[in-house]
Amino acid sequence: MRHKIVAGNWKMNNNLIETEELIKDLKNELKTVKLSEETRVIIAPSFVNLHAATKTTEESLIEVAAQNMHFAENGAYTGEVSAAMLTSLEVKTVILGHSERRSYFNEADDILVKKVNTALNNELEIIFCFGESLEDREQDNHFKVVESQLKNALFHLKSSNFTKIVLAYEPVWAIGTGKTASADQAQEMHSFIRKLLATQYNQELANSVSILYGGSVKPANAEEIFSKPDVDGGLIGGASLKAKDFTAIIKAI
Ligand code: PEP
Repeated sequence: MRHKIVAGNWKMNNNLIETEELIKDLKNELKTVKLSEETRVIIAPSFVNLHAATKTTEESLIEVAAQNMHFAENGAYTGEVSAAMLTSLEVKTVILGHSERRSYFNEADDILVKKVNTALNNELEIIFCFGESLEDREQDNHFKVVESQLKNALFHLKSSNFTKIVLAYEPVWAIGTGKTASADQAQEMHSFIRKLLATQYNQELANSVSILYGGSVKPANAEEIFSKPDVDGGLIGGASLKAKDFTAIIKAI
């Protein structure tokens, strides 16, 4: 079902104490916010703090996601984390395909397709990230790149699988750079993505999928970006690490 979603990707930040403190601050800030029923707030702390995060968010509206997982169900993969380990912690959502995973850890489409299948087999919801590089954008290849990222990792799925998929368009040139895509650039790409879904599946499915924008979303620009009809919320990096900023972004949805 299409929701408004504000998701915070905490990346490799916050130890255990800081994780608990930030969640407590966020819960406090959110006391003043009236969220509509269609709005979801998600945070993605590091693996080691997921258990504490699910406990600290109990009886709040804040949902907890993981930032990654391995594609194998279990086995000899030293240092990795499986889908079943996440679900055993009551984590229901996993971020896959983040550009930092793609570029620093060589996560190409062939790996992502396996991760997508494993996550769905374990009934995890996926926030699937994708987006073009600066070079792709400058060469006017951004639509082609996004289309191939979606086709290669997701378009083998059955339409019923899409109840568990949230898309996050994150132009790489806008992540952590302070450069944001304009609201019109975000809308243009989101509308393109929805058309792709309608062509590959059907219009009803296309209308039902939440498509988030990510890339230097801040309190100052969130409202304009979220005002666009095909932008259903944001995946937020840096600004999700401060309870006041993250709450201001949530208020903009
Ligand atoms: C992200 O890492 O997904 C992200 C959007 O980061 P930032 O908001 O810091 O650009």
